[in-house]
Amino acid sequence: SSCTFFLSYLLGMTAAELRCGKSVLIGKRLWGCFEDLIVWLHIYQWMTEIQNSNSELVTQHYLGNTVENRPMYYLQISQPSDKTKKIIWMDCGIHAREWIAPAFCQWFVKEILQNYKSDPNISRFLQNLDLYILPVLNVDGYIYSWETDRLWRKNRSPHMNGTCYGTDLNRNFNSSWGSVGVSYNCSSITFCGTGPESEPETKAVAQLIERKKSDILCYLTIHSYGQYILIPYGSTTEPPSNSEELMYVGEKAAAALTEKYGTSYEVGSTSLLLYSNSGSSRDWAHMIGIPFTYTFELRDTGTHGFVLPADQIQPTCEETMLAVTTIIDYVDHKYFPGGAVMLSSSSLGLSLCLSTLLEN
Ligand SMILES: [Zn+2]
Repeated sequence: SSCTFFLSYLLGMTAAELRCGKSVLIGKRLWGCFEDLIVWLHIYQWMTEIQNSNSELVTQHYLGNTVENRPMYYLQISQPSDKTKKIIWMDCGIHAREWIAPAFCQWFVKEILQNYKSDPNISRFLQNLDLYILPVLNVDGYIYSWETDRLWRKNRSPHMNGTCYGTDLNRNFNSSWGSVGVSYNCSSITFCGTGPESEPETKAVAQLIERKKSDILCYLTIHSYGQYILIPYGSTTEPPSNSEELMYVGEKAAAALTEKYGTSYEVGSTSLLLYSNSGSSRDWAHMIGIPFTYTFELRDTGTHGFVLPADQIQPTCEETMLAVTTIIDYVDHKYFPGGAVMLSSSSLGLSLCLSTLLEN
């Protein structure tokens, strides 16, 4: 049923799991399946639940309001610490119809919280890095795609006296805005808006990123479909200064992903691999100085396209998790080469001893 389908997307579980009558426990709250579920309300509740049941690690933050006046929130996963940490940003659902993207953001949060104590990689990077996760960037469009038009892509801003709707938020950032691969016609799916950051959703994200940019090491934005890991730029074929390293890490991430189920990904710049486009969030993030910026295009390669069957949600999330954590691990080791110093007296003694040796 559509309810099963919806819940499987929302909770990152397969339809089969839900059909087994397996109830879903998030925190202390038991979720049933209701026919009148309101998508955003429930993602919102899910975020609140996640925060309440992991209050030592997770906080929910207000980012801004959408065109239709819905609040936007992101989750911050931070291990309490005295030291200055850096930030990993990830957003999902900038394009409404790419439902697998928000499902992945939720999956990612769930996995981190379930495994951070037992998984040595996660516990290592959480000592150095805070994770900022925006599960649904384009809230209005996402709801519209659930309620009215499954293949809706843009936000819901009205133009031409309400005869034409929606700006492509991934053409609306201030990176060579309006120059290539966009339309100025508001009925087009790549309408870039009336100016850079003309949309409140774009502005909300851009303001936060701008404010924190000196601490942000990594900007990940999750889309579907095509099975690509894309590096800057879309607006020019001129490679970014760190393109070799971006490619190296991207290939490493794709290899980790493939190992799980054999799914193959291509890695490259948007303009060389796909098409030219301006005003993307990833290009913008790199242009303002965030070194590791990637766009993920998740499953599949076109068989089902945006309407990915529910039984692919879980494997897609599992394999993508491996790619994303590969990138985070790399960034962690690069910027925190000393690693997470364990506070047991023996290892502290050993690391002091080693650092003395290295200095001499
Ligand atoms: Zn997209």
